[in-house]
Amino acid sequence: MDFKNLFEQQKEFFNSNATRDINWRIQQLKQVKQLVIENETALLDALKSDLNKPAQEAWITELSYITGDVDHVIKHLRKWAKPRKVRTPLVVMPGKSFIQPEPLGSVLIMGAWNYPVQLVMAPLVAVISAGNCAVIKPSDLAPAVSAVLAKLIPQYLDNNAFSVVEGAIPETTALLELPFDHIMYTGNGAVGRIVMAAAAKHLTPVTLELGGKSPVYLDKSTDINIAAQRLAWGKWMNAGQTCIAPDYVLTTKEMVEPLVKALQHQINEMFSQDPATSNSYGRIVNKRHTERLSTYLDSGEVVQGGNFDAEQQYFEPTIVVNPELDSKLMTEEIFGPIFPIITVDNYLSAKELVIKRDKPLAAYIFTKDKNQQQDWINTISAGSQCINDVIMFNAVPELPFGGTGSSGMGRYSGKSGFDNFSHLKSILKRPFLKDLPVRFAPYTDFKFKL
Ligand code: NAD
Repeated sequence: MDFKNLFEQQKEFFNSNATRDINWRIQQLKQVKQLVIENETALLDALKSDLNKPAQEAWITELSYITGDVDHVIKHLRKWAKPRKVRTPLVVMPGKSFIQPEPLGSVLIMGAWNYPVQLVMAPLVAVISAGNCAVIKPSDLAPAVSAVLAKLIPQYLDNNAFSVVEGAIPETTALLELPFDHIMYTGNGAVGRIVMAAAAKHLTPVTLELGGKSPVYLDKSTDINIAAQRLAWGKWMNAGQTCIAPDYVLTTKEMVEPLVKALQHQINEMFSQDPATSNSYGRIVNKRHTERLSTYLDSGEVVQGGNFDAEQQYFEPTIVVNPELDSKLMTEEIFGPIFPIITVDNYLSAKELVIKRDKPLAAYIFTKDKNQQQDWINTISAGSQCINDVIMFNAVPELPFGGTGSSGMGRYSGKSGFDNFSHLKSILKRPFLKDLPVRFAPYTDFKFKL
């Protein structure tokens, strides 16, 4: 495929102003929803093939997420796209001042493999809402989903505005040479840096949705059974391959044993005694990542699980108590079903440990102590937070989704996505009435004193 030609055709269509029409955007958004609804089986099958995703889990975390997002955006889009009035100061009276959101142009969307439908389609919803065109590059590590999207998107969306490019590093490298108006990348930080360096050549703005180690602090005041159920769901969903999964738990000594027991109970409840045979438990994306995870078990005590089968891409739900803080398990993003539990002296030492590390994509605390809750909000810098839960902030359409520091930049979801992919253009509108003379030369003493 001639990417330059594709890009130029998109720009020509964009310059026709067709995408500025709110009705066109709503029509395209409805088509996104139709695509998901009418092809539910094909999408679920592809997710099963790439990640052994249980259908119900895939429906909740990928498909219904997108249809819900579309409904929310369509409901509010006309309001978001309206000029936003601001106060006009005396010096420019009479006049009117307002902010007019306008589309950017053509956006490159690069998805990751762990939620391969959602991580392409949810950014696309935001990109469409703001009136842009897009070149969509699904992850090559989820090839079944990539193929389905490459087939379906041209069938449902306006081909003048949206194209799918399949491929790996060579294709992405070629795409990154083009002067897109925005690049939306989801994936690891190393490639994030490649994307940002390529974007810099054209002064293209970027949204980088990256990862990190999202910590949990669990206080002794917590309801351990409810906490363990929420933690087990968040950690072992998609076999731990979730960017906002709880990465590790910090807790005090007396809580370690009750927490391990409560998590073991949840593993049995959710995935049975033998998760390898459970229809509710996913697989690691490939052999290489399964082997990577197996190297994380060399520090600390494995109190649950630890078995894996690289050929089958299977890794058992695993709990490790007190690995070294400088071990691979505690320095790299785990992105798999291993749950380290680290003993700390108290809340303050947990906080100190978190603050010294890179800013995570999410930070979680389980406590009934209102002061601790507020202090966590006030002092821990992270993309997002939940108090007494994990991941579920992402189910609130009006909460922006995005990282900070090494976990990323830019945000989307609902209005934040609309704003992210819009230029917020400032406009001052004036009639032909005489101005106050003070602003015009000659600058006499008299005018200055005014
Ligand atoms: P990945 O391997 O699918 O890569 C992401 C994209 O980058 C793909 O489209 C891929 O083709 C492209 N790519 C890979 N190498 C490249 C290169 N050298 N040059 C140009 N393009 C290249 O996904 P991944 O990076 O393994 O994803 C896992 C990471 O993503 C984790 O760190 C996770 O936390 C993060 N993540 C973040 C979010 C978020 O929303 N913040 C969501 C999911 C995953």
